[in-house]
Amino acid sequence: MRNVSIHYGDLVAVDDVTLSVEPGSVLALLGPSGSGKSSLLRALAGLEPLAAGQVLWDGIDLSTTPVHRRNFGFVFQDAQLFSTMDVGRNIAYGLGKLPRHRRQERVREMLHLVGLQGFEGRKVTELSGGQAQRVALARSLAPSPRALLLDEPLSALDRSLREHLADELARILREVGTTAIHVTHDQDEASTVADTVAVMDHGRLLQRAEPDVLWRNPASRDVARFLGFSAFLTNDQAAALGWVGRLGAHEVLGIGPRSLELHDDGVPLPVTSQGFALGEVEIGVRLPDGQGATLTAAERTTAPQVRVRLVSGAVTPA
Ligand code: ADP
Ligand code: MG
Repeated sequence: MRNVSIHYGDLVAVDDVTLSVEPGSVLALLGPSGSGKSSLLRALAGLEPLAAGQVLWDGIDLSTTPVHRRNFGFVFQDAQLFSTMDVGRNIAYGLGKLPRHRRQERVREMLHLVGLQGFEGRKVTELSGGQAQRVALARSLAPSPRALLLDEPLSALDRSLREHLADELARILREVGTTAIHVTHDQDEASTVADTVAVMDHGRLLQRAEPDVLWRNPASRDVARFLGFSAFLTNDQAAALGWVGRLGAHEVLGIGPRSLELHDDGVPLPVTSQGFALGEVEIGVRLPDGQGATLTAAERTTAPQVRVRLVSGAVTPA
């Protein structure tokens, strides 16, 4: 994508985005709802006109290549299976050119890949949400597209299934070796599935990085906030809370839910709230300069304040 902009009337949905995906790698487009992810994905597919810029494949401008000739596969939030066909015929749908026995072999291969061996004859109305998404993935991969575009394919599933399928999807995409772009608003999912994460907000590309770089060094406070780092401390403020690291002159430390821990010799901080996340207690505290932060603990506290030590954070520009 080179300087791609997409407009809807006066609304700038995508604003001058330049991004590339290496062959065989997985790129996540990560951003809050309305940040322009789906618009950009549709533009790659040829489903959305560009206000400016170019979409290129291997250096060749695709502007005159229609949707069906781009040879991209799609998976959407809703599996969009053909309800009148069984699972096998859904997966065989794009395989018209193959002889019948090769088609059946390919369907079997794909079902094996997505962990649904023996499901050929199953009605699609009898699949669970997770199974339907596996079939949708198998259908889109069956014709060996040169790239796979996934738009929030796991977002409609409940959390435990979503986390499990994110792991599976990461495995499947690597096994197939396909170039893929995975759109999601979920930070953990993006980091699990992709080799590289591109963070978007308000139509702009804010950062493109490998997941561990992104989490350690968000390019701005906006990126850090989106990842869940809610407070920002200078070197002295961080040291006062027991942090042993050292920040550069133009850096601050982003404080996330794993940055603080309870410690008997820690700094006493007032408790402002308590809630649960994945079965653990998230205690809200007020930092000495007034910013709010949370920390994870095994149990609720009844005390008005807790003793806290700062153990880690994300380094971000001041
Ligand atoms: P995301 O996928 O990140 O949630 P979208 O690309 O769907 O974001 O939308 C980006 C912006 O463009 C939003 O403000 C959205 O309301 C607007 N938008 C998306 N599609 C259309 C459309 N077909 N017509 C008008 N506005 C649209
Ligand atoms: Mg979207």
